[in-house]
Order: sequence, then C-alpha cells, then structure tokens
Amino acid sequence: MKKKSFAVIGAGRFGENLALSLSEMGHDVLVFDADEKKVQELSYQVTHAVQGDSTNEETLKTLGITNFDVVVVAIGVDLQASILTSLILKDLGVKYIIAKAQNALHGKVLEKIGVDRVVFPEKDMGIRIARQLAAYNVLDCIDLSPDYSVTEFIAPKKMEGKSLGELGLRARYGINVIAIRSGEKINISPLADYMISKGDLLIALGENKVMEKLIREQN
Ligand code: ATP
Repeated sequence: MKKKSFAVIGAGRFGENLALSLSEMGHDVLVFDADEKKVQELSYQVTHAVQGDSTNEETLKTLGITNFDVVVVAIGVDLQASILTSLILKDLGVKYIIAKAQNALHGKVLEKIGVDRVVFPEKDMGIRIARQLAAYNVLDCIDLSPDYSVTEFIAPKKMEGKSLGELGLRARYGINVIAIRSGEKINISPLADYMISKGDLLIALGENKVMEKLIREQN
C-alpha cells in the first residue's frame, strides 16, 4: 500500500477516529484542531498535531496544507467554520478535499464550494448497517455522537402487531427506523404501515436516552 499524507481538520469523534485509523494504517497524518487539549492528547498517536484556527488562511498556508494528498474537514457543529475552512482550502488549491456535512443543506453548500467528497457520517452509517444486516452480521449499537446512536434491538412485546405509524416512533420519539429484519427478509426504509411481528429486529437512529426509555417501556 502506498503511503499517503492526510490532514484532518477538527478532531471531534469523527475526525479523531479517522485520524487514528489512518495513522494505524501507516499513513502520515496531521491533526489540526482549535482545542489545545485534544491536540496534546493526539500528538503521540499521529505524525503531527497542531493547534490553531482553520479559518485563518495564513495558518493553513504555513502548515503547507497544499502538500497533503487529502485534507478532511471534520468540523460539524460550527457550520461557518466548516464552510469557511473548505472555501479557503479550495482557494489554496488543495488536491482533494473531503468534508463532513451535518445535514443536506450543509452538504449542498460544501458541494457548491467544490469539495471533492461530502460525507454524511450518520446517513452513511445507516446504509452500512442495513448492508451488514443483510449479510446477517450481528449488530449492537454504533455511536454517532455522545447522545445519538444507531441501535439494533428486537421489537419489544408491546410493539408486536402494531405499525410504525401507530407507534409514532418518528413523530413522538424522533426515532427513525432505518431497517427491519424479519426472519430472513430485510426491509430497508420501512414505511409507516409496516406491521411489526414478533422477533423483528429493528435498526433505529435516535437519541440514546429516548431510545432506552422507549425500549424499556415497550417491553
Ligand atoms: P463529531 O460529531 O465528529 O464529534 P462534531 O460534528 O460535533 O464532531 P465539532 O464539535 O463541531 O464537530 O468540531 C469537531 C472539532 O473541530 C472540535 O474538536 C473543534 O475543536 C474543532 N474545530 C471547530 N472549529 C474549528 C476551527 N475553526 N479550527 C480548528 N478546529 C476547529
């Protein structure tokens, strides 16, 4: 495998795990984050870890950001910082930019800027899980952020014989059922009229607290 150089801007959960995985694979990885503590923590695990503000063009130039094969903008919550950083990277002529989007609109803006690849970790994860389900892999729970996750669970007793719409999972609990495995059948993106059967395996995306409460109450 050819060794590549990556710069990861923003060491949140996504950025940190991406940087650590790339580093474990033997690639050169620079982590850049505004948070000094995060930078300190990662400094022993990646090639370089630098503290700074990625919306400062001069800082990015000094880092030699255009020399990296790939630059990943892994800033999510601060939309302004994500967009401004991507714009500066594009202007500087970075070879390949990947940016994480929080939602469809954020993704659209990033695409307009000319980011080479926009990733939606939550959405992409949902698809991956549906695929794993189809392959009969055992799933558990994948954290998307400290508060949200994709959870796999057997339909609690009280859900049996009811439709997703009737249960109001999305409307009442903000829980999106991404896929359901019923016996050997996989239903991806089940609709509101899907009737839950005994033993159905639900893959749902939602807030951990709400999900736990729902599963407890329905059992
Ligand atoms: P995740 O979901 O991956 O945990 P997130 O979407 O919540 O991340 P943020 O918390 O917005 O993302 O940002 C991730 C990281 O990016 C944080 O560690 C933050 O310090 C860093 N960051 C945010 N803005 C900047 C900036 N302008 N320059 C450098 N780092 C930044």
